[in-house]
Amino acid sequence: MKAISFGGGVQSMGLMVLAAQREIPHRTFLFANVGADSEDPRTLDYVERVAAPYAQPNGLDLHVLDRITRSGRRETLWGRLMRPGSRSLPIPVRMSNGAPGTRSCTRDFKIAVTGRWLRELGARPGTPAEVGIGISLDEIMRASNRHVEPHERISYPLLDLRMRRADCPSVIADEGLELPSKSACWFCPLKSRAGWAELLRDRPVLFERACELEETLTAPRAALDRDPVYLTRSGRPLAEAVTAAQDELPFDVGCDSGWCMT
Ligand code: SF4
Repeated sequence: MKAISFGGGVQSMGLMVLAAQREIPHRTFLFANVGADSEDPRTLDYVERVAAPYAQPNGLDLHVLDRITRSGRRETLWGRLMRPGSRSLPIPVRMSNGAPGTRSCTRDFKIAVTGRWLRELGARPGTPAEVGIGISLDEIMRASNRHVEPHERISYPLLDLRMRRADCPSVIADEGLELPSKSACWFCPLKSRAGWAELLRDRPVLFERACELEETLTAPRAALDRDPVYLTRSGRPLAEAVTAAQDELPFDVGCDSGWCMT
């Protein structure tokens, strides 16, 4: 069994086009959806409007996978973050010194969700599924097998093809397709300061909600006399740390695993 972990960004979409052109053998694309309230709305729109209609006539299966709890409830990352009384910090919030805290979001909402689907289709430690991740040559430092599950074998088709991130837009555009925007949760603390500035400038309602999230995550810590946590590395609240972008600025490569932001 071969599948691509489809993040909805430029590298994943480049892989989908390469699959349609039979440059890579994968036919199955798995989009682990962190939630309609959590994934960047532009990514969700792109998956529905561009990727899914492209996949189907090209003989590719694009599956959108939600996280389902043991009780059968659909859980979103935003829902977990905003759960009343919760003190858990599943996203890589920044501590006062700017360093990111440990996170469980990628594992719980992407790796585990994908793994469950693969296991249901028969992936086992003795017969692992191959999961292709869209890390490109310029981001080779993200190609780490640290998070490999026993029923999976990770591959990097863009590395095998010696392709860089910058090669993907022309692969997509030459197919007559619109380019995707950067995929990630819109509140991800791994976003660069330029990315935050862009969010403030272009989507101020989401920026405001991110400020509320930061306050929600810090409030229970303040009650316990613990350090605040932040969504930027500046050691200051988001609203103080970010001013609106003046130009189009790029998004940092922030996730070290390739399961997010590809
Ligand atoms: S994009 Fe950021 S917040 Fe969302 S799952 Fe990945 S690391 Fe976590």
